[in-house]
Amino acid sequence: LAAGEYGPEQSGRVIAHFGRSLEVAPTDGGDAVRCHLRANLEGLVTGDWVVWRAGQDGSGVVVARQPRDNVLERPDARGRLKPVAAGIDQILIVFAVEPEPHSNLIDRYLVAAEATGIAPVLVLNKVDLLPDEGGELRTLLDRYAALGYPVVTTTTATSSGLDALHRQLKDRTSVFVGQSGVGKSSLIDRLLPNEDLRIGALSADSRKGTHTTTTARLYRLPSSTTDNAPDGAPGEEDSGGELIDSPGIREFGLTHLNADQVADGFIEFRDYLGHCRFRDCRHRAEPGCALLNAVERGEIHADRFASYRHIVDSLEEN
Ligand code: GDP
Ligand code: ZN
Repeated sequence: LAAGEYGPEQSGRVIAHFGRSLEVAPTDGGDAVRCHLRANLEGLVTGDWVVWRAGQDGSGVVVARQPRDNVLERPDARGRLKPVAAGIDQILIVFAVEPEPHSNLIDRYLVAAEATGIAPVLVLNKVDLLPDEGGELRTLLDRYAALGYPVVTTTTATSSGLDALHRQLKDRTSVFVGQSGVGKSSLIDRLLPNEDLRIGALSADSRKGTHTTTTARLYRLPSSTTDNAPDGAPGEEDSGGELIDSPGIREFGLTHLNADQVADGFIEFRDYLGHCRFRDCRHRAEPGCALLNAVERGEIHADRFASYRHIVDSLEEN
């Protein structure tokens, strides 16, 4: 290509971004390409699918963004929501046998995930610390499974402890969220054992400064070694799935939701919402409240309803 010339349009995915400079992974394989943005293109985030064209000296230009299925947003320092990643298939909500999750912590994460439209998955880590009979946590997990949520149990303490997680991650783009101390770093270290994979092909220049800690990066996970399906031809590249990660994403939680969104985030409430006698029912003590009646009949678990109340109350305090 001569100076100022670009190759044909290609499909790719943003795997990292630094101001007006992006790293794009070509869809048909090969190394990531450092790209700049066409002037009229703003607001791209990690995980976005794009159209790009190769330029000279191995760099490229992004010329268009494909429509997004979803976007994960986080409040900036001034409380304004900003997109941080897109194209996510599932949010893995990690919690642990220790520290034991507060009663409504899981519900808080589920509500936040439901509001994004991205499918949540519950990951209980540190099951090596779980008593044999499983105790209350097992009962709790069964309840979420009955609601239709995938539930995966993991431990970083044994070699087979991540098999179920590998299966859940395969062929999807995932993010990990959850409280500090539940084992997110440990899980990701095990999924991405190779330091080079983790850092990626970044130049020292782009690794400098605050961008490193704030922007999200997309990693291609190697397929698990204990999980080799016999169907793939030898040498065929087997994707272990894709992971988008950043400290900010890990802290994703309950932000900027209103009471309606909270109610809607409890998936088993959806059948009842809109059936209360009063259109502006706040589901507190109103006669003819469809939710309260469902709790009364045992169709909605009292703990989930209490959790809903708790979350709405805490939003109203702020
Ligand atoms: P993060 O804050 O969520 O990233 O959690 P870390 O990955 O830093 O883990 C917190 C602590 O839990 C560390 O001391 C880990 O060694 C420990 N840990 C992580 N996974 C497991 C596990 O499966 N079992 C046990 N017993 N400890 C774990
Ligand atoms: Zn009601």
